[in-house]
Amino acid sequence: MRIPLVAGNWKMYKTHLEAIHFVEQLAHGLAGHDDQKVEIVLCPPHTALRSVQTTTEDRHQTFGVGAQNMHHETEGAFTGEVSPVMLKALRCKYVIVGHSERREYFGETDEGVNSKVKAAFEHELVPIMCCGETDEEHERGETESKVNGQVRAGFDGVSPEKAARAVIAYEPIWAIGTGKTATPEDAQKTISYIRSVITELFGDAVSSQIRILYGGSVKAGNAASLFGQPDVDGGLVGGASLDAAEFAAIVKAAL
Ligand code: PEP
Repeated sequence: MRIPLVAGNWKMYKTHLEAIHFVEQLAHGLAGHDDQKVEIVLCPPHTALRSVQTTTEDRHQTFGVGAQNMHHETEGAFTGEVSPVMLKALRCKYVIVGHSERREYFGETDEGVNSKVKAAFEHELVPIMCCGETDEEHERGETESKVNGQVRAGFDGVSPEKAARAVIAYEPIWAIGTGKTATPEDAQKTISYIRSVITELFGDAVSSQIRILYGGSVKAGNAASLFGQPDVDGGLVGGASLDAAEFAAIVKAAL
């Protein structure tokens, strides 16, 4: 039985003070809801991780804190980077790895993503590994070959025990921040295909445990139909996660 997960990727939005305010509003919006049935993960910018961690701990809801990126080394002369050890010390549980914006604007490759996935596991962080096709690839019917390659490369050298704990986010790039969403049926089709790739790589037990999310213009209005698909275990939410009321409604859709 997979517990649904709804993760908010704040990207480069919100100061640590705005983050504190957001957590208060979100907790208020979720008050009275059965919190054990869905895991809520907030992924603020690094500067707000500490504030989100301290304001979410000891709450009724099952909150997890995640970073949006990290370096794969534990420490070193890498100006501007943060390491898995540093995230772990802040009690982060998750780290987003290989988001399409990182791949596009910061030159992240499948190999680099693989190093980060392995580093996350080494330091007991759960990677939320993103994959997805561009608009052109989608038009050319290359969705499956694209995600197949990204998933195989991302999990190269990872043991089945670790893979079972991972989270994959299928995020068609043409749907991110565009207002265009994959239909629930298309999201289901690709996510079930990703699950079949995991079966090939790691076997049935792992593929029935691993959580696979949909991301790409998820909103309160479309969340229930997307999350209602049998293989869709929740969502990675960008823009709509910045508004506490909207995000609370998305979390409730996953319940
Ligand atoms: C994302 O950034 O992971 C994302 C899915 O963004 P949005 O929800 O804004 O499309």
